[in-house]
Amino acid sequence: MPRSSLFWRLFAGWCALVGAVLAAGFWVASVQLAGLADEALAARLADAARGLVATFPGRDPAADPAGFAAAAEALRTTTRIGCTLEPDSSAGDEELFAAARRGDTVSRIRYDGAAGRRTLEVAVPVGNPPTRRVVLAVGDAVESDRALAVWQRRLLGGCVLVAGGAAALGYAVARRITRPVGELAAAARRLAAGDIAADLPATDVAELAGLGEALGRLREQLVERGLTIGRQGTQQEAVLGSMVEGVLAIDDRRRIIGINRAAADLLGVESDRAAGRPLQDVIRNPELRRFALTAIDCREPVEDELVLHGVRDRTIRLRGTALRDASGAGGAVIVLDDVTEMQRLETIRRDFVANVSHELKTPVSSIKGFVETLLDGAVDDPDDARRFLGIIGRQSDRLAAIIEDLLALSRIEQSETSGTLPVEHLPLAGILDTAADDCRPRAAERGIDLRIDCPRDLLATVNGPLLEQAVINLVDNAIKYSEPGKIVQIVAAPSPTAAGVLLRVRDEGCGIAAEHLPRLFERFYRVDKARSRNLGGTGLGLSIVKHIVQAHSGTIAVESAPGVGTTFTIHLPSAAA
Ligand code: ADP
Repeated sequence: MPRSSLFWRLFAGWCALVGAVLAAGFWVASVQLAGLADEALAARLADAARGLVATFPGRDPAADPAGFAAAAEALRTTTRIGCTLEPDSSAGDEELFAAARRGDTVSRIRYDGAAGRRTLEVAVPVGNPPTRRVVLAVGDAVESDRALAVWQRRLLGGCVLVAGGAAALGYAVARRITRPVGELAAAARRLAAGDIAADLPATDVAELAGLGEALGRLREQLVERGLTIGRQGTQQEAVLGSMVEGVLAIDDRRRIIGINRAAADLLGVESDRAAGRPLQDVIRNPELRRFALTAIDCREPVEDELVLHGVRDRTIRLRGTALRDASGAGGAVIVLDDVTEMQRLETIRRDFVANVSHELKTPVSSIKGFVETLLDGAVDDPDDARRFLGIIGRQSDRLAAIIEDLLALSRIEQSETSGTLPVEHLPLAGILDTAADDCRPRAAERGIDLRIDCPRDLLATVNGPLLEQAVINLVDNAIKYSEPGKIVQIVAAPSPTAAGVLLRVRDEGCGIAAEHLPRLFERFYRVDKARSRNLGGTGLGLSIVKHIVQAHSGTIAVESAPGVGTTFTIHLPSAAA
């Protein structure tokens, strides 16, 4: 539908109305004026006829037709009104004269089409019956028609003036009504375009003022809704940002619509620059791209696992769920879970169970074997019996040692994870002395010189018995793996670099090859299995030391060179001199 402005509709409507009213008024007035002019002319004609008759004695001109004709001629020359006494009534005049004879003054208009002029005829009764005569007065209407035309022109001029005034008034009123409508429409358009600072015009037209107020409320709601959406966005961002799992959202045109920090870090992309870009431009891994497409198409959630190769290979578990909104537009959300660490821990747990079983199996089968040998008759030979019971005893001690170490490890780990290790402010020298006293018999046995170097006033915040256990484990190893005549040293001093104390156990023993160092603190890890077993080792000693140090929030390091010796260095952070 073609659109026209409200202003032009109002203005044109008003002009049409005014025009129609003025035209109708003009027509009615013209008709009235013409009627009045004819009436006046008819009255003048009748008066002239009566005046003429009044000059005759007895007011009966029929007695002197020649005199009447002369007087009538005189009247015609002065007033151009023609008077005829009892004219011959032609066919059309019958009715006119009959009415006049009854005493009525009757007028009639004749129109001469060829000459374009009107003539008024008035039949005037004179005298009383029975001598009543009829005089026919005839006058030209040209004068009154001319006057009428003058009046019509004036009337028309007036009408034009009124029409002009009305149009100007209409224009002003239409403008006054439509300007605020236009301003409101412009404000609404700006509002729709997102300009919430748009000014809403004030107006005194009640309906428009109401519309303006409604727009104002609409703007408030827009602002409020915008704030809510903003808040929700921020919350969503905060939630996604704080998630450990990576989250990647894509639309059905395979464009990235969102990616959180965790996912960006995992995939090595910049989250700010990824949004809005096609999947294949951002994600290099073809398996992940394929998974994303499957997730978009599948109704059910899908799962998979893939390895992202990089500096460190990472195993990622993927879960994809298709998105469908009300309009049918789709996409998918993919959650990426880095399960590398979990899998590593799971492997460690499995290995540990296998290792424990293996470690326990050896002494148990040995004990079982010797018990069976004894039952089979060896018990009757006192020498064999004594020898076999000795072996059974040593294997039982080994079992007990492994179990004791495992229990110790589990206790330490528990206090490590719960952070409830009871600690005290203690002089370190006392702890080192007690540990050394414990090891001295074994050192003497192997001809090792055990020395302590520790300031008497050096204090540390530690769990005394546990730290003692750690030092005993390290010194025991140092003695075990050193040749007779060598020196084993325990040195403690305030840390020169960081706060806390440094505790060193140094030996001049066989040393450890570099390739073993990274795994040295693992449970049941041994450089030389047979040698360790022969020396009564469980393979758990260093693991226990590491967990004791960790329970104190400390660190442990090892330096070693084969044939030169080994130094274990413990850093305990909390200490006071
Ligand atoms: P084990 O009970 O076998 O001594 P540990 O956990 O205490 O178990 O030690 C693990 C391994 O580390 C040992 O088997 C040994 O090979 C090596 N090791 C530990 N301390 C020393 C040391 N001071 N010198 C040489 N090798 C050592």
